Amino acid sequence: MGAITQNKARRATILGSTGSIGVNTLDLIEFASDQGEAEVDIVALTANRNLETLVEQAKKFRPDFAAIGDAALGDDLKSALAGTGIETGAGPDAIEEAAQRDADWVMAAIVGAAGLRPTLQAAKRGADIALANKECLVCAGDVVTAAIEAAGGRLLPVDSEHNAIFQVYDFDRPERISRLILTASGGPFRTWSRDDMATATPAQAVAHPNWSMGAKISVDSATLMNKGLELIEAAHIFPTPHEQIEVLVHPQSVIHSMVEYVDGSVLAQLGTPDMRTPIATTLAWPDRTPSPSAKLDFAQVATLTFEPPDLKRFPCLRLARESIESGGVMPASLNASNEVAVAAFLDGAVKFLDIAAITEQVLEKVSGENSPARLTTLEEVVAADGEARRLAEEFAAARAAA
Ligand code: NDP
Repeated sequence: MGAITQNKARRATILGSTGSIGVNTLDLIEFASDQGEAEVDIVALTANRNLETLVEQAKKFRPDFAAIGDAALGDDLKSALAGTGIETGAGPDAIEEAAQRDADWVMAAIVGAAGLRPTLQAAKRGADIALANKECLVCAGDVVTAAIEAAGGRLLPVDSEHNAIFQVYDFDRPERISRLILTASGGPFRTWSRDDMATATPAQAVAHPNWSMGAKISVDSATLMNKGLELIEAAHIFPTPHEQIEVLVHPQSVIHSMVEYVDGSVLAQLGTPDMRTPIATTLAWPDRTPSPSAKLDFAQVATLTFEPPDLKRFPCLRLARESIESGGVMPASLNASNEVAVAAFLDGAVKFLDIAAITEQVLEKVSGENSPARLTTLEEVVAADGEARRLAEEFAAARAAA
């Protein structure tokens, strides 16, 4: 990764500014600026369909450019921002254009594989990438990390677990690290039986006990696929083999992850479950900037508990582990089929337990014949992603009709 520098003045772009991470990022930037702690010029903001929030944000934060993914909303965006001097664009190309503009810090907070191309565009310019969009590392980890490395930017992990590890990981002596321990809250169904999960509704699945997040990642937390995606993400960010990365359920979400060294020392990062803390570390790293997050009250937390994950009740975690062990097209296929299955569940077309079942069906079907050991080009990723999506849609339609 590139050289470490102090960065107080930033030119920042937020890809996915209208989502949960995007809104938290703008909130943090406003707070840090009000405190005189950060000078941040906003270069570009992007949304997919949420025109109203994008317009509101653009009027307040005055980016050079505002882009909306849904091309049909382009005229509305243009007229809503007429007279402000803010340029506008619409459609997937406009989102990529936003990423190409000259911000030196880009928050990659689009959800799903849709974030891959824009993130790559920003990476190729050498921008620092604050990476929330874990799916782009799961489906194209080698492509994204190679692009960041080649252009000399830094990959600054936003996901709270990876951000925690990043803060205590000795990048100069990775061979002295024996284990990474990714903590997991266990999600809303941590104590539920499979029978109860069989009838779980989307509203129950998105009701996360500790974190307030977008719908897709909330469902991923309920299936534990989120932790599986994070396992693959961690193996791309840190030079520790995936066999040495473990998952531990920690329902209080106070310890955000841990690094164990060969001498038995375990270093952890702790905090309240508020994404503005990890976002703040990526904005200022290696400096620190104040965040409005609540500070930890240890006496109130009182107890920290841990338990191993139950792979029988939560097969998605097993599927993710198997995908990274198999390599090739499997992680991209896992990610794409999960995206399709979660969308079908949120639409009410399939049941909660179908998410893992559809993903497993897809993985069995694509299982790696003629697959390269690693996907190193965007074309390979797009092909694997497209095939898995097609199969997942077929399997989801069959289940919806049953
Ligand atoms: P949200 O669903 O809240 O927001 C997603 C953002 O992406 C929105 O701005 C949305 O626009 C935009 N978007 C969606 N689809 C497209 C598309 N096809 N093209 C362009 N833009 C699109 O998600 P979150 O903020 O919760 O999560 C974002 C990413 O961060 C995910 O990868 C998630 O796994 C990761 N993450 C999130 C955490 C959290 O606390 N929320 C924690 C750790 C990681 P619109 O609003 O118009 O739909």
